[in-house]
Amino acid sequence: MIFDVAPGQALGPRLVRERHTLAAMMAIYCRDHHGQRGQLCEDCIQLLDYAEQRLANCPFGEDKPACNHCQVHCYSTTQRERVKAVMRYAGPRMLWRHPLLSLYHLLDKRREAPSLTAVKGSRKPSSIRRPVEPSRTDTL
Ligand SMILES: [Zn+2]
Repeated sequence: MIFDVAPGQALGPRLVRERHTLAAMMAIYCRDHHGQRGQLCEDCIQLLDYAEQRLANCPFGEDKPACNHCQVHCYSTTQRERVKAVMRYAGPRMLWRHPLLSLYHLLDKRREAPSLTAVKGSRKPSSIRRPVEPSRTDTL
């Protein structure tokens, strides 16, 4: 199942929703371009896997901006072009098929993309948290 979260990957509600949106878009794209029904073709499964990995490792976590607004380009160029093509095609079609998901997606796009330094300074997603340094004050 596409929606099962792999062990050790605890995605928050925001990222889980993003995953659903992604999978739904891929399904639309694959159906119309690769003639698949009910399941994705090999290529699309690989692309979705890749995108899910990037999502799970997003340094912004639940504060994740829409990917096209993000300052951190974590996709490889090839994969990025492929995902962009999927979104361009499936984005408008999502409105009819998954009105709620696409509404959220539009709202996410309106969020301001945080810069990675701003995130580091405040909430610190776990993936970029640094180990605590030993305190040097106890010799004073
Ligand atoms: Zn496909």
